[in-house]
Amino acid sequence: MEQVVIIGTGCAGLTAALYTARANLNPLVLTGIMPGGLLTTTSIVENFPGFPEGIDGYELMTRMQKQAERFGARVKFATVEAVDLKKKPFVLTIDGEPVEAQTIIIASGAGHRHLGLKNEDLLEKKGVTYCATCDGALPMFRNQPLVVVGGGDSACEEASYLTRFASVVYLIHRRDSLRASKIMAERTLANPKIKPIWDSVVTDVLDVAQDKVTGVKVKNVKTCEETVIDCAGVFVAIGHVPNTQVFKGVIDMDENGYVTRKQGSETNVPGVFVAGDCSDHVYRQAITAAGMGCAAAIDAERYLAGLTH
Ligand code: NAP
Repeated sequence: MEQVVIIGTGCAGLTAALYTARANLNPLVLTGIMPGGLLTTTSIVENFPGFPEGIDGYELMTRMQKQAERFGARVKFATVEAVDLKKKPFVLTIDGEPVEAQTIIIASGAGHRHLGLKNEDLLEKKGVTYCATCDGALPMFRNQPLVVVGGGDSACEEASYLTRFASVVYLIHRRDSLRASKIMAERTLANPKIKPIWDSVVTDVLDVAQDKVTGVKVKNVKTCEETVIDCAGVFVAIGHVPNTQVFKGVIDMDENGYVTRKQGSETNVPGVFVAGDCSDHVYRQAITAAGMGCAAAIDAERYLAGLTH
C-alpha cells in the first residue's frame, strides 16, 4: 500500500513530491499524459523566483523532478482511470491496475480550452494548435501569416514567440483591451509584427476541404461584420479547463470543475488533498501552484501522522 499517491507532475505535483519524499513518505507520483505539466510547453519563465535571467519551462520542470527523485519520489508515466474513495485505504485504478493509497494529492492541473468549433477539431494538428512553443517552428508556419486567439498572458506569450517565424501575427481578441499583465500587454502591442484585431471572435476555421488551415472567419462583435483572414496556422490561447473529470461526483467541485478546498488543501474527503491549477482559477502561477503543492504535502503528512497516534 502507498502512503501518498500524487496525481500530476506540474509545479504543484512535483513540489508535493519533494516535500513528501523529504518526509520519508516515499511518494508515488503519476505523470498523466503530460509529464511536467503545462509549463513544459512554455518557452522562458521570467517570474519564477530565483532565476533572474528566466528559465526554460521544460528545464524548470526537469529540475523539479530530479530534486524530488533525489529524496526518493518515484515518478511513473501513468494515468489514473478511476478512483474509489469510499474505501479506506483508497483504491486508484492506474493503467488497469488497482493501487491502494492512504492519502492522495490531486495536482492534475488544467488543459487548453478549445474554441468549440467543429472545424477547429477537424483541423487540429493540420494548422490548429494550442502550443506555440511545441509547434511554432514547424515548416508549415514559416514566413506565413499566423493567428493567435485570446487576450491573456498566454495569448501574448504565444504571439510574441511566433513573431520569430511568422510573416505577421494577428492577435484576435473578443474585447478592445488585453487581459494580460501590463508588462506582457505593453511588450505585445509594441511588437511591429503583431497586429491586434479587437472586438472580434473566430467563427470558423478554413479549409477542411483542403485538409489544412488556410484562414479564419472573424466576426466583429460590435459591428457584426464578418471577414476572412488568410493564415497558415491558428494558435488558440483562451485559457484552461481543469483536469478533474475522473473525480466528478466523488470530490466536490465548482460549476467549472475546479476542486473546492475546505481548510488549507483539504477536499471534502478526509485524506484527499488538492493543489495547483485543478483547484485554482484565480492565481494560476507556477509559484502559487508550487506553494499549494507544498501545503498539500504538509497536510498529507499531518493526516498520516494522525492515523498512527
Ligand atoms: P486567461 O488569463 O484566462 O485569458 C484567457 C483569454 O482568452 C481572455 O482574454 C479571454 O477573454 C479569452 N477567452 C476565453 N474564452 C474565450 C472564448 N471562448 N473565445 C474567445 N476568447 C476567449 O488565460 P491565460 O492567458 O491562459 O492565462 C492563465 C493564467 O496563467 C493567468 O493567471 C496568467 O497570468 C498566467 N500566465 C502567466 C504567464 C507569465 O506570466 N509569463 C504566461 C502565461 C499564463 P476575456 O479577456 O474577454 O475574458
